[in-house]
Parts: sequence; C-alpha cells; structure tokens
Amino acid sequence: MIKVEKLNKSFGDLHVLKDIDMSVNESDVVCLIGASGSGKSTLLRCLNFLELKDGGRVVIEGDDIDQKTHDLNKIREKVGMVFQHFHLFPHKTVLENVMEAPVHVKKMDRDKARKSAKELLKKVGLADKEGVYPSKLSGGQKQRVAIARALAMKPDIMLFDEPTSALDPELVGEVLATMKQLAHEGMTMIVVTHEMGFAREVADWVVYMHDGRIVEVGHPGEMFGSPKEERTKAFLDAVL
Ligand code: ATP
Ligand code: MG
Repeated sequence: MIKVEKLNKSFGDLHVLKDIDMSVNESDVVCLIGASGSGKSTLLRCLNFLELKDGGRVVIEGDDIDQKTHDLNKIREKVGMVFQHFHLFPHKTVLENVMEAPVHVKKMDRDKARKSAKELLKKVGLADKEGVYPSKLSGGQKQRVAIARALAMKPDIMLFDEPTSALDPELVGEVLATMKQLAHEGMTMIVVTHEMGFAREVADWVVYMHDGRIVEVGHPGEMFGSPKEERTKAFLDAVL
C-alpha cells in the first residue's frame, strides 16, 4: 500500500531522514515512536508530500510518485492527515468544516457532501454538534471533527501526527477510541504517538526511530516485551 525505499531528507545541513525503508500493507496500523527530533513528523510529511524528499522512492498503491510531475493534491486526497493542532476553519461550523474539501476540492455535489458529512459526524460521536463553531468545542471534540474532515475525502490511508498530544489528559481517551474504531474497520493508518498503551493494543507494527533512522520494527508484544536493540530498550525504559 505504501512502500518507502531509501528515503532521504535534509533541511539545509541537517540530515533528518537517513535511508528510510518502510512497507505498510493494507489495513495495517503502524505506530511510529521515537524521541523528539528523531524525524517522525518529517517522515509522515514526506508520505503525503507536505515535505518534498531529496532522494529515494515513495510508492503509494503501486504508484512510484514523482513529486515533480504528479498532482500532489490528488495524493493528499488518498493520504489523509490529522495534526496535533486541529487546524479547523474557525469561521465555519462543524458540518461546514467536514463538507469543505469534498465540495471545493473534489467538486462533490453539496447535498451528497452534507449527507456524507453528517454520517461521519455520527461516526465520531458528534452528530449533535454539526451547527456549532469550533471555538465552542473541547479539544477532544475538535480533534474528532478533524478526523471526520480527513475521512470526508475518503482516503485510503490516514496519517496521524501526535493527535492527542495537545489534549488535556481526560480528553485523550475519546480520540483514541475513535482511532481504534477506525483501525478495527480496516483503515490503513500510520500514527506518530507517545501513547504506548494505544500502540500496544492497536498497532500491528511498532516502528522505533532514532536520529533519522529506523532502528527497530516489531509487533507490539516483541517491541515492548523484548526489544532487540539497546537504543530501543533505553527509549522504552525512559517512556514506559
Ligand atoms: P517531535 O517528537 O518533537 O515532534 P519529530 O520526531 O517529529 O519530533 P521532526 O519534526 O521530524 O521530529 O524534526 C526532525 C528534525 O528536523 C529536527 O531537528 C527539526 O528541528 C528539524 N526540522 C523539522 N522541520 C524543519 C524545517 N521545516 N526546517 C528546518 N528544520 C526542520
Ligand atoms: Mg513531530
């Protein structure tokens, strides 16, 4: 579904991603963990071309993406993304936020987009909030709207970059529950997270990054129970 080969990315002299190889199959849930600055966000952003790579290949559903010639907006329709800070449109209602991209980017008929947006809001437990503006929502509710909005484009893959890190602790659970439900429905997901409980429970694979490299990949049981690499062990000892 997504295949990354020898992906490299620098910002000026700073070499941030170093020969990243990664393969994600359909319906896989991959949790990406690692210290601050290890390159997790940059890797996600390279997967939907919010950052352009310097070298290597990103293959999405068999398509080896040439970032110079491909329509990158089309790729971003396939590869949805949810950020730590929700980036909702403040002057649009919850329903309008979810309808925005299907109507304006995909040119979907408004009635159809409205119907689909309402279904998505129901799915994330916010059917009663459709007419409300984002400022009236809790952080957890905002993040669930952001998830519904990403899903409205019917992506094949969802990327999450620390979706619960900005939330008050009591609001984390509702967002993780929404993500867990998506995972159970078979969505292919790559999740950067510090929520090791979520990774342990939901991930098919855990990927540990350190200093721009993938150091270890394993099933959660192996990774958390008996990491093979010293660095992974040191990181997990510090966070668990
Ligand atoms: P965190 O857990 O803090 O979010 P991360 O693993 O997501 O960290 P990245 O945001 O990918 O790390 O950053 C990796 C490195 O690249 C860091 O040293 C960061 O300062 C640098 N970096 C990221 N984006 C840019 C940019 N646009 N310009 C310059 N340097 C950048
Ligand atoms: Mg980050």
